[in-house]
Order: sequence, then structure tokens, then C-alpha cells
Amino acid sequence: MFDFILPTKIIYGAGSINLLEEELRNIKAKKIMIITDKGIAKSGLLSKLEDIMNHGGYDYMVFDDIEANPKDYIVEECAKTAGENDIDTFVAFGGGSPMDAAKGAAVISRQGGRIRDYQGKNKIGEDCMPLITIPTTAGTGSEVTFSSVITDTDRNFKFTVKSPYIAAKTAILDPELTISVPSLITASTGMDALTHAIEGYTANCTEPIAEAIGLYAVEYIVSSLSRAVSKGDDLEARDNMMMGSLMGGLSFSHSDVASVHCMAEALGSLYDAPHGLCNSILLPYVMEYNLPECEYKYARIARAMGIDDSNDRSAAEKGIEYIKELSEEIGLPGLSSLDIDPDDFERLAEMSVENGSNASNPRKVDKETYIQLFRKAYEDRR
Ligand code: NAD
Repeated sequence: MFDFILPTKIIYGAGSINLLEEELRNIKAKKIMIITDKGIAKSGLLSKLEDIMNHGGYDYMVFDDIEANPKDYIVEECAKTAGENDIDTFVAFGGGSPMDAAKGAAVISRQGGRIRDYQGKNKIGEDCMPLITIPTTAGTGSEVTFSSVITDTDRNFKFTVKSPYIAAKTAILDPELTISVPSLITASTGMDALTHAIEGYTANCTEPIAEAIGLYAVEYIVSSLSRAVSKGDDLEARDNMMMGSLMGGLSFSHSDVASVHCMAEALGSLYDAPHGLCNSILLPYVMEYNLPECEYKYARIARAMGIDDSNDRSAAEKGIEYIKELSEEIGLPGLSSLDIDPDDFERLAEMSVENGSNASNPRKVDKETYIQLFRKAYEDRR
């Protein structure tokens, strides 16, 4: 038995950011906070958004203190600032970090407490600050997901708040906004999207709709990732990446992520490392481990990536190799690039086991297995 909820209105297409003005009117926004990061604020994208706000005559303020792997105290500061300024609507503008921070702030600005109080699944009530998400990277899918991933800075631990109530009211996906994403961030966020699609399709709690969306997302992503990296102004490639990222987000939100994310979030917690890069490093090693349980599905993924092989086992193996080659081709480095101390593998493995999505991996994983997977990824590509 499963349910399939889509609480977010999705507006999609090149130029769709211009529909924000109308959307704010639809939800009767009066005092708006744009939540973003300093990179976006400096990139010139923010002035485009501000032009729209000014044209609509909206009263708004900008909170641009969000950092990568958003920190709990900044989310709390954001909610406090919103309260002090009588904000009634959030617009999250940026990659997964501003969107997740805005989702977290939307919870505590209405329900109080600290964001860590809501860690886990279905711990929040219905009343959240209305939120419009506008992604500027094609990777996390956070614009439509039921998750907010926040760093607990006391424990150095990335945790997830997961509930359909945290989802945005409206997501506006305009692929033109991603043209300025630098190639390395395009590569790592694209691999994040691919990981969502693969884990959403194969998690042991998945269902047919999430499977279908996840598998189709693989085609969108793999057909266009290299092109989006090498030719950033290729709008067709950017468009396909944004659609793949959206689908990957829809898939894993209704299913789950699994061990790749458990390990990536542990790395992000201890090393403040870019999330998509961590996923790209770990994905093929977790797939090799999962292969005995996932032969058929991995073969279908391989075929969606264009591999022509009717034998499931060899197609699946070729698919995993292809993912390794793809991440090298698009310039993503291996685990040693993160300046990892192998003495941390044990702690990283403990954090991976503790992750709420560990139980969703299609093959059972314990602490010892995680240590071996970290070691393999570390030794394979120095
Ligand atoms: P990010 O939001 O941290 O942004 C990375 C960098 O890209 C920043 O410096 C930003 O300024 C820059 N940037 C963003 N858009 C740009 C643009 N159009 N042009 C130029 N620069 C731009 O990166 P991300 O990968 O999008 O998000 C990662 C975060 O999302 C992690 O914390 C991860 O845990 C989280 N995440 C959340 C979900 C979810 O469902 N909530 C899913 C996956 C990942």
C-alpha cells in the first residue's frame, strides 16, 4: 500500500521566473523574504528576481546568509528575522542549500523550537510559512521534495526533516537560471540528480510511480550532463538536466534515497564537502555492492543510459563502469580530493548507519560494510 501526494504546483519552462509576480498574487503574499546565498546575490541573478518584485510592487527583504550544507543556527536566525519583520511568504532562490534552509525556517517560524527538534519523518505539523522555491541548480530536486537537509553544528551531523507539509506551495523551474552555474558545480549537481533517480528507483520502499519517474529521469540526465558541463549555454542540455533533476526529486521523495546518500551526508557533515560531489564519488561503489539485489533494475538503468546489452548482469556491470567514466569525463575528482583522513572511516560509517535512509538501501548495510565501501572508494581513485 502507498500514497502519492503532490502538494507542490510545478511551473516549468524557460522564462517561467516571470510568472513569479502572478504566483505571489495568487497566494496573497504581502511581505516577502527572499532566501538565498552570497554567491547568487553576487551573480546578478538576484537582481533579475528583484526586478520582478519591484515591478509587482511587492514589499520584500533579502536574507542571503545561507551557506553550503546549511547550518542549523542560520536557519534559526532566518526564522527569527522573518518574525521580526512580519514576513508572510518565503521565496527560496538558489540551489539545495537556500531551498532547504527556507524549508527549515518555514517550519520553525510557525511551529517554534529549534530545527533539530523536527529531525526524522513526519515530525512536523501542517502550519508552515508559505514557500515558493526557484532552483538555480539542476541537482537536488529540493524545490518539490518533502525533505530539508540541515547540519546540526553541535554534533557535526547532517539530518533530514521529512514530511509532505514541508514541501513548497509552488516550484518555478526556469532552466535559463542554470546557465551561469560553473562547470564543476554543473557536474556535481548533475550527479546528485542521477543518484536521486537511481536510489529513488531502487530503494526497497519504492513503488511503481516513483520507479517510473526515477528510471525516466536517468535518460534525461545521462543524455545531457556532459553537454551541460562542456557547453554551459546549451539551453536544451540545461533544460533536460532541470527536468531530470525535478523527476529525480519526485522519485526519491515518494520512495527514499539510500546508502549513497547516507555516506555522502556523513562526508558533508565531517568535511563540509559539496553534496553532489560526495554522491558522484560513492555511487558506483554502492551500486557494485548492491548489484546482487538489483541486477534487473541496474540493467534497466544501464539501458536507459544507452547501453545495448540484453544480458542483465553484464548490462548492469557496464552501467556501473559507465557511471565511473562519466564522472571522470565531466571532471569530478575521487575521494582523496576531499583530503579525507582514513582514520575517520569508522566515524563516517557510524554516521552512515545512523542516517534515516540506511534502512531503505536495497541490500542490508552494516557499519563494517560502510567502512569497506569508504576504503574502496578511497583506494580506487587517488
Ligand atoms: P548549493 O545550493 O550549496 O550551491 C552550490 C554553489 O552554487 C553555491 O556557491 C551557489 O552560490 C552556487 N550557485 C547556485 N546556483 C548558481 C547559478 N545559477 N549560477 C552560479 N552559481 C550558482 O548546492 P546544491 O548542490 O544545489 O545543494 C546542496 C544541498 O542540498 C546540500 O546541503 C544537500 O544536502 C541538499 N540536498 C537536499 C535535498 C532535498 O530534497 N531537500 C536533496 C539533495 C540535496
